[in-house]
Amino acid sequence: MKDNKKSKGEVKSMKDTVAKFTKYMERINMFGQIGAIVSFDAETVAPEGGLAQRAKRASFFELEMHKLHTSKKMKKFLDELAPHVKELDDITKALYRIAKDEYNAKAKIPEELVEKYAALTEEAHDVWRKAREASDFAKFAPYLKRVVDAHKEMLEYRKDEIPKGGCLYDILLNDYEKDMTVKKYDKFFEDLKDTVVPLIKKVAASKKKIDTSFKSEAVSIPMQEKISELLAKKVGYDLNRGYITASTHPFCNSPDSTDVRITTRYDEKDFMSSMYSVLHECGHAIYEQGMGEDIAGSLLGDGTSMGIHESQSRFYENVIGRSLEFWQELTPDLKELLPKEFEDVTPEMFFEAANESKPSFIRVEADELTYSLHVIIRYEIEKLLFNGDCKIEDLPGICNTKYQEYLGITPPSDAIGVLQDIHWSWGLFGYFPTYALGSAYAAQFLHYMSQDLNVKKLVKKGDLSKINKWLNEKIHSHGSKYTPEKLMKKSFGEQLDAKYYAAYLTEKYSALYEL
Ligand SMILES: [Zn+2]
Repeated sequence: MKDNKKSKGEVKSMKDTVAKFTKYMERINMFGQIGAIVSFDAETVAPEGGLAQRAKRASFFELEMHKLHTSKKMKKFLDELAPHVKELDDITKALYRIAKDEYNAKAKIPEELVEKYAALTEEAHDVWRKAREASDFAKFAPYLKRVVDAHKEMLEYRKDEIPKGGCLYDILLNDYEKDMTVKKYDKFFEDLKDTVVPLIKKVAASKKKIDTSFKSEAVSIPMQEKISELLAKKVGYDLNRGYITASTHPFCNSPDSTDVRITTRYDEKDFMSSMYSVLHECGHAIYEQGMGEDIAGSLLGDGTSMGIHESQSRFYENVIGRSLEFWQELTPDLKELLPKEFEDVTPEMFFEAANESKPSFIRVEADELTYSLHVIIRYEIEKLLFNGDCKIEDLPGICNTKYQEYLGITPPSDAIGVLQDIHWSWGLFGYFPTYALGSAYAAQFLHYMSQDLNVKKLVKKGDLSKINKWLNEKIHSHGSKYTPEKLMKKSFGEQLDAKYYAAYLTEKYSALYEL
């Protein structure tokens, strides 16, 4: 408290409120950390037979968390703190911001609707899995319609959150990336399309042939596990506070910065797939391990947003991991482990094979150049869904038309077209666009990093310590203390700008494909 015009009594009672509020938020934090371990267990080692009871536990837990965030006690804290926000220290201010956002988003929705929605998405997810297996969108369509309608019903209670001149979908976008709106994303994606679409056409017309034959060389899973550890060590993911295992979909899970776990997926006939999953998840993990002392272990000791988090994973996966210098440094070690398999492969060949670009159907397997178009397609469809401009049963056609328009290919089935992603079955709308933000932020960070460091030289030397320190100071150590926009302003003095990403892709692919 800095305001000395207040009476001693007022100051004391404010201090008391801050202390009690901090303790309450710590309770939420601890529950969150326990929840993280439970979900890691479910994704890795939990037996199939326990699925039904696990789902019950998960929805019980979700409802209890909902109650903590929306309790009368929380409302009282928020009301008492509201007139004094400017006087609060940075940490309490950030806790207040997070508590207020959660309260505003959740408290207005009746509890029975929250429960109904949780049960519906559980069911819809199961139907989606079966529909995808059968490659039959018609099976999933009625459930998707119910999920979208239920979502709209909940959004009706949140209409006051629509920014001036905005729309319903803005609320969802803001849920996943604070302060992002349709207006900002439209500009971002239009700028990106202007560069990416013509560049993809030029790459397709290029005569350059890239040899990728050695990518399918068999590499045993124990050997790939060794490579995972080697990569973790090279990029600076601390395994004393970390752990690598396998799961169907790779992810990073972090109760707190002293316990940051990652998973990957091994395919004996595609060693690079796991390599790049590991590098991607290492990026998330290095962020989580890098929390500053003032926030480590607390609710703020966590990445600030999906977009900024994804920038770190993309930075290590693509900017570093898909660079020629990285392969120049890695190749001797890889050849020592696999002398016969890669006898004739040069760093340049590895580099080119890791960056081959061609239009493909599956988003998660797309190369760096075509990736953002997959995201744009989902963003445009979600806009249609929430503006009420399209019928659910028309989605496969809309999706296929967009693939043809942007990537020049038409998905031959629903399974690899409209049904490929899990997100909509869980009701995760507004999430996809953050994937594209990550790559754009990563390129922007590289631009600024290159003003301070000789990035290529450091990567070639295998010395990432200075790069990690730079990212730690600008991004990691701040955790959730600031919103993405505030963090950008504080560390870089500007906001997200697609121009850096456009320039990065143009430079990289023009050189690679000799355009
Ligand atoms: Zn990621």
